[in-house]
Amino acid sequence: TAALPHVLMPGTYPEWDMAPMREAYTLHRLWEAPDRQAFIAEHAPQIRAIATRGELGASTELIAALPKLELVACYGVGTDGIDLAACRARGIRVTNTPDVLNGDVADLAVGLLLAVQRRIPAGDQFVRSGAWAHGGMPLATRVFGQRIGIAGLGRIGGTIARRLSGFDVEVGYFSRTPKAESPHRHFASLSAMAEWCDVLIVILPGGEATRGIVNGEVLQALGPRGWLVNVSRGTTVDEAALLQALETRAIAGAALDVFLNEPRIDPRFAALDNVVLTPHHGSGTEATRRAMGELVRRNLEAHFAGRPLITPVA
Ligand code: NDP
Repeated sequence: TAALPHVLMPGTYPEWDMAPMREAYTLHRLWEAPDRQAFIAEHAPQIRAIATRGELGASTELIAALPKLELVACYGVGTDGIDLAACRARGIRVTNTPDVLNGDVADLAVGLLLAVQRRIPAGDQFVRSGAWAHGGMPLATRVFGQRIGIAGLGRIGGTIARRLSGFDVEVGYFSRTPKAESPHRHFASLSAMAEWCDVLIVILPGGEATRGIVNGEVLQALGPRGWLVNVSRGTTVDEAALLQALETRAIAGAALDVFLNEPRIDPRFAALDNVVLTPHHGSGTEATRRAMGELVRRNLEAHFAGRPLITPVA
């Protein structure tokens, strides 16, 4: 196997990807290294690619430690954990897994919206606990007829808008540029959209440009009858402001798939009865995870064969 290209993996992939990866590459399993720094120093001279995951990324330090690095392949569409500027400066190419996960993330966003407003997890608990025998459950919020504001009408946001077309709701969206192909109302200001909508669904990219964009002012504009669904990144929301808004009922509730400090999230979330929480599982179906892994492997293969990358990050 001496001739196989050397690939560094910060974290594992499912076994259905690991088996073909082992066949094609000499893998360096960073997550198993007792001393990361010593491990990287030892293998750095051989490593030509990093096969990472969205949440693990590729840091400035990691990239700087790998002088022979040619490619960073990301299992996931969000590249906010990868130092793209460092890659650009050194001509290191980057790939991600766009589109194959659009349907799953959109389904979860709509599912979370229904779950929190119709109180589906609370209803499940109400039945299981036997509380049903002693009276009725608190009433829920009507979904249809509402105004839904989507922050980020890209690949996934556009799919969410399509999903919602059957729900008898009015859709608006926030982005830097209006989308000519969208029939929906465009907002150039997130606060203005939050003022207008009943539910704010956030599906913006993470990173510096969107850090804390859902701030106290946006939450105040959403108001005590407004709801937040976040399937983007924990970083897009000012979490201190969100926790306070949820605890004081300055907004009605939230359904969240993403948080700061995953997986050790702020314990204040678990104490709230007006939230539905999922563990960053937007793309978490077997079919989509298989498609993502295949796309990562096709990108690695194309790179080492000298063919054009399948899904390069611009
Ligand atoms: P796209 O790049 O296709 O869409 C991004 C959208 O956000 C565009 O409409 C863009 O429009 C808008 N946008 C980007 N930057 C800004 C900004 N600074 N201010 C306002 N609007 C902005 O991305 P995808 O739809 O493929 O993915 C979106 C994100 O979803 C990913 O980056 C990832 O972080 C997250 N994600 C979460 C998952 C989960 O498990 N919960 C799974 C998959 C993805 P414009 O350029 O006009 O502003």
